[in-house]
Amino acid sequence: MAGDTLFDRVAIIGIGLIGSSLARALRAEGLARHVAVFDASAEARATTEDLAIVDSVHDTLAGAATDADLVVLAVPPGAFAAIGAELAPMLKPGAIVTDVGSTKRSVIDALSPILPDGVTLVPGHPIAGTEHSGPAAGFAELFRDRFCILTPVPGSDRAAVDKVAGMWRRIGSDVELMEADHHDRVLAITSHLPHLIAYTIVATAADLEDQLGASAKARAGEDDVVTTAEVIRYSASGFRDFTRIAASDPVMWRDVFLNNKDAVLEMLGRFTADLTALQRAIRWEDGDELERVFTRTRDIRRGVIEAGQAGRFIYTENGDSGDEEPES
Ligand code: NAP
Repeated sequence: MAGDTLFDRVAIIGIGLIGSSLARALRAEGLARHVAVFDASAEARATTEDLAIVDSVHDTLAGAATDADLVVLAVPPGAFAAIGAELAPMLKPGAIVTDVGSTKRSVIDALSPILPDGVTLVPGHPIAGTEHSGPAAGFAELFRDRFCILTPVPGSDRAAVDKVAGMWRRIGSDVELMEADHHDRVLAITSHLPHLIAYTIVATAADLEDQLGASAKARAGEDDVVTTAEVIRYSASGFRDFTRIAASDPVMWRDVFLNNKDAVLEMLGRFTADLTALQRAIRWEDGDELERVFTRTRDIRRGVIEAGQAGRFIYTENGDSGDEEPES
Protein backbone atom coordinates (compact mmCIF):
# COMPACT_ATOMS: atom_id res chain seq x y z
CA MET A 1 0.00 0.00 0.00
CA ALA A 2 1.58 3.27 -1.09
CA GLY A 3 2.29 5.90 1.56
CA ASP A 4 4.38 9.06 1.97
CA THR A 5 7.25 9.58 -0.43
CA LEU A 6 10.65 9.30 1.29
CA PHE A 7 12.99 10.42 -1.49
CA ASP A 8 12.82 12.74 -4.48
CA ARG A 9 15.38 10.85 -6.54
CA VAL A 10 16.80 7.41 -5.87
CA ALA A 11 19.65 6.16 -8.04
CA ILE A 12 20.08 2.41 -8.17
CA ILE A 13 23.48 1.35 -9.45
CA GLY A 14 23.27 -2.22 -10.72
CA ILE A 15 19.81 -3.37 -11.75
CA GLY A 16 20.14 -7.09 -11.16
CA LEU A 17 18.05 -9.28 -8.93
CA ILE A 18 18.38 -7.10 -5.84
CA GLY A 19 18.43 -3.69 -7.53
CA SER A 20 15.39 -4.46 -9.65
CA SER A 21 13.49 -5.94 -6.69
CA LEU A 22 14.18 -2.76 -4.75
CA ALA A 23 13.09 -0.63 -7.70
CA ARG A 24 9.83 -2.53 -7.94
CA ALA A 25 9.24 -2.33 -4.19
CA LEU A 26 9.97 1.43 -4.12
CA ARG A 27 7.45 1.94 -6.88
CA ALA A 28 4.85 -0.33 -5.30
CA GLU A 29 5.09 1.64 -2.06
CA GLY A 30 5.44 5.04 -3.69
CA LEU A 31 8.66 5.77 -1.79
CA ALA A 32 10.48 7.77 -4.48
CA ARG A 33 9.33 10.43 -6.93
CA HIS A 34 11.93 9.28 -9.43
CA VAL A 35 13.97 6.09 -9.61
CA ALA A 36 16.99 6.35 -11.91
CA VAL A 37 19.17 3.39 -12.84
CA PHE A 38 22.67 2.85 -14.13
CA ASP A 39 24.01 -0.57 -15.03
CA ALA A 40 27.22 -1.41 -16.86
CA SER A 41 25.41 -4.11 -18.81
CA ALA A 42 23.65 -2.89 -21.98
CA GLU A 43 21.50 -6.00 -21.84
CA ALA A 44 20.38 -5.28 -18.25
CA ARG A 45 19.58 -1.69 -19.24
CA ALA A 46 17.53 -2.79 -22.25
CA THR A 47 15.64 -5.36 -20.17
CA THR A 48 14.93 -2.73 -17.53
CA GLU A 49 13.54 -0.39 -20.19
CA ASP A 50 11.32 -3.18 -21.47
CA LEU A 51 10.10 -4.04 -18.00
CA ALA A 52 9.25 -0.37 -17.35
CA ILE A 53 9.96 -0.70 -13.64
CA VAL A 54 11.89 2.58 -13.18
CA ASP A 55 11.59 6.18 -14.30
CA SER A 56 14.88 6.50 -16.17
CA VAL A 57 17.68 4.21 -17.33
CA HIS A 58 21.14 5.68 -17.90
CA ASP A 59 24.30 4.47 -19.55
CA THR A 60 26.53 6.54 -17.28
CA LEU A 61 26.87 6.67 -13.52
CA ALA A 62 26.55 10.46 -13.56
CA GLY A 63 23.31 10.27 -15.51
CA ALA A 64 21.67 8.31 -12.72
CA ALA A 65 23.42 9.60 -9.60
CA THR A 66 23.52 13.34 -10.22
CA ASP A 67 21.05 15.07 -7.91
CA ALA A 68 20.09 11.82 -6.17
CA ASP A 69 19.04 11.98 -2.50
CA LEU A 70 19.73 8.29 -2.14
CA VAL A 71 22.24 6.21 -4.10
CA VAL A 72 21.90 2.45 -3.73
CA LEU A 73 24.87 0.36 -4.80
CA ALA A 74 23.56 -3.01 -5.94
CA VAL A 75 26.56 -4.32 -7.88
CA PRO A 76 28.81 -7.25 -6.90
CA PRO A 77 30.98 -6.46 -3.84
CA GLY A 78 34.17 -6.30 -5.91
CA ALA A 79 32.84 -3.30 -7.89
CA PHE A 80 32.18 -1.00 -4.92
CA ALA A 81 35.55 0.70 -4.65
CA ALA A 82 35.78 1.73 -8.30
CA ILE A 83 32.18 2.95 -8.41
CA GLY A 84 32.63 4.82 -5.13
CA ALA A 85 35.65 6.71 -6.47
CA GLU A 86 33.73 7.79 -9.56
CA LEU A 87 30.60 8.57 -7.59
CA ALA A 88 32.08 10.69 -4.80
CA PRO A 89 32.57 13.97 -6.73
CA MET A 90 29.05 13.92 -8.16
CA LEU A 91 27.14 13.52 -4.89
CA LYS A 92 25.12 16.45 -3.65
CA PRO A 93 25.42 17.64 -0.02
CA GLY A 94 22.98 15.74 2.18
CA ALA A 95 22.91 12.72 -0.10
CA ILE A 96 22.82 9.25 1.40
CA VAL A 97 24.79 6.36 -0.03
CA THR A 98 23.66 2.88 0.86
CA ASP A 99 24.29 -0.57 -0.54
CA VAL A 100 22.93 -4.11 -0.52
CA GLY A 101 26.25 -5.94 -0.54
CA SER A 102 26.69 -9.26 1.20
CA THR A 103 29.85 -8.18 3.03
CA LYS A 104 29.95 -5.05 5.14
CA ARG A 105 33.44 -4.26 6.48
CA SER A 106 34.78 -4.19 2.92
CA VAL A 107 32.12 -1.67 1.89
CA ILE A 108 32.94 0.63 4.78
CA ASP A 109 36.67 0.37 4.09
CA ALA A 110 36.14 1.10 0.40
CA LEU A 111 33.66 3.96 0.69
CA SER A 112 34.07 5.73 4.03
CA PRO A 113 37.42 7.36 3.21
CA ILE A 114 36.34 8.70 -0.16
CA LEU A 115 32.82 10.02 0.35
CA PRO A 116 32.68 13.80 0.77
CA ASP A 117 31.65 15.57 3.98
CA GLY A 118 27.91 16.01 4.18
CA VAL A 119 27.24 12.64 2.54
CA THR A 120 26.22 9.78 4.83
CA LEU A 121 27.11 6.16 4.21
CA VAL A 122 24.51 3.70 5.52
CA PRO A 123 25.76 0.20 4.65
CA GLY A 124 22.97 -2.35 4.33
CA HIS A 125 22.34 -5.98 3.54
CA PRO A 126 18.90 -7.39 2.82
CA ILE A 127 18.88 -11.01 3.91
CA ALA A 128 16.81 -12.06 0.95
CA GLY A 129 17.52 -13.39 -2.47
CA THR A 130 17.24 -16.14 -4.98
CA GLU A 131 19.79 -18.03 -7.05
CA HIS A 132 18.68 -16.04 -10.11
CA SER A 133 20.30 -12.90 -11.50
CA GLY A 134 19.36 -9.94 -13.63
CA PRO A 135 16.51 -7.44 -13.75
CA ALA A 136 13.89 -9.90 -14.98
CA ALA A 137 14.49 -12.10 -11.91
CA GLY A 138 13.46 -9.43 -9.41
CA PHE A 139 10.11 -9.02 -7.70
CA ALA A 140 8.67 -6.42 -5.33
CA GLU A 141 7.91 -8.84 -2.50
CA LEU A 142 11.45 -10.19 -2.21
CA PHE A 143 12.22 -8.28 0.97
CA ARG A 144 8.91 -8.85 2.72
CA ASP A 145 9.25 -10.55 6.12
CA ARG A 146 13.01 -10.74 5.65
CA PHE A 147 15.68 -9.10 7.75
CA CYS A 148 17.65 -6.17 6.46
CA ILE A 149 20.83 -5.53 8.43
CA LEU A 150 22.23 -2.00 8.53
CA THR A 151 25.79 -1.49 9.75
CA PRO A 152 26.19 2.29 10.17
CA VAL A 153 29.61 3.53 11.15
CA PRO A 154 29.81 5.21 14.57
CA GLY A 155 28.94 8.89 14.34
CA SER A 156 26.79 8.53 11.21
CA ASP A 157 24.00 11.04 10.76
CA ARG A 158 21.15 9.44 12.70
CA ALA A 159 18.45 10.95 10.48
CA ALA A 160 20.02 9.35 7.41
CA VAL A 161 20.20 5.96 9.12
CA ASP A 162 16.56 6.28 10.20
CA LYS A 163 15.53 7.19 6.66
CA VAL A 164 17.19 4.15 5.12
CA ALA A 165 15.76 1.97 7.91
CA GLY A 166 12.34 3.47 7.21
CA MET A 167 12.63 2.61 3.51
CA TRP A 168 13.34 -1.06 4.27
CA ARG A 169 10.55 -1.22 6.83
CA ARG A 170 8.09 0.24 4.36
CA ILE A 171 8.90 -2.50 1.87
CA GLY A 172 8.30 -5.15 4.48
CA SER A 173 11.68 -5.90 6.04
CA ASP A 174 12.62 -6.21 9.69
CA VAL A 175 15.56 -3.86 10.17
CA GLU A 176 18.41 -4.77 12.53
CA LEU A 177 21.38 -2.57 13.32
CA MET A 178 24.66 -4.42 13.70
CA GLU A 179 28.35 -3.72 13.85
CA ALA A 180 29.95 -4.48 10.45
CA ASP A 181 32.52 -7.04 11.66
CA HIS A 182 29.85 -8.87 13.61
CA HIS A 183 27.65 -8.95 10.50
CA ASP A 184 30.49 -10.45 8.49
CA ARG A 185 31.09 -13.21 11.06
CA VAL A 186 27.39 -14.03 11.37
CA LEU A 187 26.93 -14.19 7.60
CA ALA A 188 30.14 -16.18 7.18
CA ILE A 189 28.58 -19.07 9.10
CA THR A 190 24.92 -18.67 8.07
CA SER A 191 25.40 -17.96 4.40
CA HIS A 192 28.93 -17.87 3.04
CA LEU A 193 30.10 -21.22 4.41
CA PRO A 194 26.91 -23.02 3.26
CA HIS A 195 27.54 -21.70 -0.23
CA LEU A 196 31.14 -22.84 -0.11
CA ILE A 197 30.01 -26.29 0.96
CA ALA A 198 27.42 -26.40 -1.82
CA TYR A 199 29.96 -25.35 -4.44
CA THR A 200 32.37 -27.97 -3.13
CA ILE A 201 29.97 -30.89 -2.96
CA VAL A 202 28.59 -30.25 -6.44
CA ALA A 203 32.11 -29.89 -7.85
CA THR A 204 33.17 -33.11 -6.09
CA ALA A 205 30.17 -34.94 -7.53
CA ALA A 206 30.96 -33.58 -11.00
CA ASP A 207 34.58 -34.77 -10.71
CA LEU A 208 33.36 -38.17 -9.60
CA GLU A 209 31.00 -38.30 -12.55
CA ASP A 210 33.88 -37.47 -14.91
CA GLN A 211 35.95 -40.20 -13.33
CA LEU A 212 33.14 -42.75 -13.52
CA GLY A 213 32.64 -41.80 -17.15
CA ALA A 214 36.33 -42.21 -17.94
CA SER A 215 36.55 -45.61 -16.29
CA ALA A 216 33.36 -46.78 -18.03
CA LYS A 217 34.91 -45.82 -21.36
CA ALA A 218 38.12 -47.60 -20.47
CA ARG A 219 36.20 -50.73 -19.52
CA ALA A 220 34.17 -50.68 -22.70
CA GLY A 221 37.32 -50.05 -24.73
CA GLU A 222 35.54 -47.57 -26.94
CA ASP A 223 35.33 -43.83 -27.20
CA ASP A 224 31.64 -43.31 -27.65
CA VAL A 225 30.25 -44.68 -24.37
CA VAL A 226 27.70 -42.14 -23.20
CA THR A 227 27.75 -42.10 -19.40
CA THR A 228 24.54 -41.39 -17.62
CA ALA A 229 24.88 -38.56 -15.12
CA GLU A 230 24.11 -40.88 -12.27
CA VAL A 231 24.96 -38.44 -9.56
CA ILE A 232 22.39 -36.04 -10.91
CA ARG A 233 19.86 -38.63 -11.99
CA TYR A 234 19.65 -40.29 -8.60
CA SER A 235 20.20 -37.22 -6.51
CA ALA A 236 18.10 -37.22 -3.39
CA SER A 237 16.62 -33.94 -2.30
CA GLY A 238 19.68 -33.06 -0.19
CA PHE A 239 21.94 -33.00 -3.22
CA ARG A 240 19.33 -31.23 -5.34
CA ASP A 241 19.24 -28.42 -2.79
CA PHE A 242 23.02 -28.13 -2.99
CA THR A 243 22.85 -27.87 -6.78
CA ARG A 244 20.37 -25.03 -6.46
CA ILE A 245 22.64 -23.10 -4.14
CA ALA A 246 25.67 -23.92 -6.28
CA ALA A 247 23.89 -22.31 -9.26
CA SER A 248 24.33 -18.92 -7.57
CA ASP A 249 26.11 -16.17 -9.46
CA PRO A 250 29.84 -16.99 -9.74
CA VAL A 251 31.02 -13.37 -9.89
CA MET A 252 29.06 -12.29 -6.86
CA TRP A 253 30.23 -15.28 -4.84
CA ARG A 254 33.83 -14.87 -5.90
CA ASP A 255 33.60 -11.33 -4.53
CA VAL A 256 31.87 -12.43 -1.32
CA PHE A 257 34.70 -14.81 -0.43
CA LEU A 258 37.41 -12.34 -1.38
CA ASN A 259 35.74 -9.58 0.63
CA ASN A 260 34.97 -11.63 3.74
CA LYS A 261 38.14 -13.65 3.74
CA ASP A 262 39.02 -13.58 7.46
CA ALA A 263 35.58 -14.44 8.79
CA VAL A 264 35.06 -17.20 6.20
CA LEU A 265 38.45 -18.75 6.96
CA GLU A 266 37.70 -18.66 10.68
CA MET A 267 34.34 -20.42 10.22
CA LEU A 268 35.85 -22.86 7.74
CA GLY A 269 38.45 -23.82 10.36
CA ARG A 270 35.72 -24.55 12.92
CA PHE A 271 33.69 -26.45 10.36
CA THR A 272 36.66 -28.57 9.29
CA ALA A 273 37.36 -29.52 12.92
CA ASP A 274 33.73 -30.53 13.47
CA LEU A 275 33.64 -32.49 10.21
CA THR A 276 36.76 -34.35 11.25
CA ALA A 277 35.06 -35.20 14.57
CA LEU A 278 32.08 -36.65 12.70
CA GLN A 279 34.40 -38.55 10.38
CA ARG A 280 36.02 -40.07 13.46
CA ALA A 281 32.64 -40.95 14.98
CA ILE A 282 31.69 -42.80 11.79
CA ARG A 283 35.03 -44.60 11.62
CA TRP A 284 34.74 -45.77 15.27
CA GLU A 285 31.04 -46.51 14.85
CA ASP A 286 30.23 -44.10 17.63
CA GLY A 287 26.46 -44.01 17.06
CA ASP A 288 25.81 -42.14 20.31
CA GLU A 289 27.96 -39.24 19.18
CA LEU A 290 26.32 -39.14 15.74
CA GLU A 291 22.87 -39.19 17.29
CA ARG A 292 23.82 -36.51 19.81
CA VAL A 293 25.01 -34.14 17.06
CA PHE A 294 22.03 -34.81 14.79
CA THR A 295 19.54 -34.30 17.63
CA ARG A 296 21.13 -30.98 18.50
CA THR A 297 20.96 -29.81 14.89
CA ARG A 298 17.31 -30.80 14.65
CA ASP A 299 16.61 -28.46 17.55
CA ILE A 300 18.34 -25.66 15.66
CA ARG A 301 16.08 -26.29 12.69
CA ARG A 302 13.06 -25.96 14.98
CA GLY A 303 14.45 -22.63 16.18
CA VAL A 304 14.72 -21.42 12.57
CA ILE A 305 11.07 -22.30 11.98
CA GLU A 306 9.98 -20.64 15.23
CA ALA A 307 11.91 -17.50 14.25
CA GLY A 308 9.83 -17.34 11.05
CA GLN A 309 12.93 -17.77 8.86
CA ALA A 310 11.80 -20.93 7.09
CA GLY A 311 8.97 -19.47 5.06
CA ARG A 312 8.04 -19.63 1.41
CA PHE A 313 11.10 -17.77 0.21
CA ILE A 314 14.13 -19.59 1.40
CA TYR A 315 17.19 -17.61 2.15
CA THR A 316 20.54 -18.98 1.20
CA GLU A 317 22.10 -15.56 0.67
CA ASN A 318 20.92 -15.81 -2.86
CA GLY A 319 19.01 -19.04 -2.58
CA ASP A 320 15.27 -18.64 -2.48
CA SER A 321 13.79 -21.73 -3.94
CA GLY A 322 10.28 -20.36 -3.85
CA ASP A 323 8.17 -23.41 -3.36
CA GLU A 324 10.56 -26.05 -2.18
CA GLU A 325 10.72 -27.44 1.31
CA PRO A 326 12.20 -24.63 3.41
CA GLU A 327 15.76 -24.83 4.56
CA SER A 328 17.96 -22.61 6.64
P1 NAP B 1 23.06 -9.37 -10.34
O1 NAP B 1 21.67 -9.88 -10.51
O2 NAP B 1 24.18 -10.13 -10.97
O3 NAP B 1 23.11 -7.85 -10.84
C1 NAP B 1 24.24 -7.04 -10.74
C2 NAP B 1 24.21 -6.07 -11.90
O4 NAP B 1 25.26 -5.10 -11.69
C3 NAP B 1 24.49 -6.72 -13.26
O5 NAP B 1 23.60 -6.23 -14.22
C4 NAP B 1 25.92 -6.31 -13.53
O6 NAP B 1 26.23 -6.25 -14.90
C5 NAP B 1 25.95 -4.93 -12.92
N1 NAP B 1 27.30 -4.44 -12.67
C6 NAP B 1 28.40 -5.15 -12.35
N2 NAP B 1 29.45 -4.32 -12.19
C7 NAP B 1 28.98 -3.07 -12.40
C8 NAP B 1 29.58 -1.79 -12.39
N3 NAP B 1 30.87 -1.64 -12.10
N4 NAP B 1 28.81 -0.71 -12.67
C9 NAP B 1 27.49 -0.86 -12.96
N5 NAP B 1 26.88 -2.05 -13.00
C10 NAP B 1 27.61 -3.14 -12.73
O7 NAP B 1 23.45 -9.23 -8.80
P2 NAP B 1 22.51 -9.30 -7.51
O8 NAP B 1 22.25 -10.72 -7.18
O9 NAP B 1 21.40 -8.34 -7.65
O10 NAP B 1 23.55 -8.78 -6.39
C11 NAP B 1 23.83 -7.41 -6.25
C12 NAP B 1 24.38 -7.14 -4.87
O11 NAP B 1 23.43 -7.62 -3.91
C13 NAP B 1 25.69 -7.84 -4.54
O12 NAP B 1 26.54 -6.95 -3.86
C14 NAP B 1 25.30 -8.98 -3.62
O13 NAP B 1 26.33 -9.25 -2.70
C15 NAP B 1 24.07 -8.41 -2.93
N6 NAP B 1 23.10 -9.41 -2.49
C16 NAP B 1 22.71 -10.40 -3.33
C17 NAP B 1 21.78 -11.31 -2.91
C18 NAP B 1 21.33 -12.40 -3.81
O14 NAP B 1 20.68 -13.33 -3.35
N7 NAP B 1 21.62 -12.34 -5.10
C19 NAP B 1 21.22 -11.23 -1.63
C20 NAP B 1 21.60 -10.17 -0.81
C21 NAP B 1 22.55 -9.27 -1.25
P3 NAP B 1 27.01 -7.54 -15.54
O15 NAP B 1 26.04 -8.67 -15.45
O16 NAP B 1 27.36 -7.10 -16.91
O17 NAP B 1 28.23 -7.76 -14.67
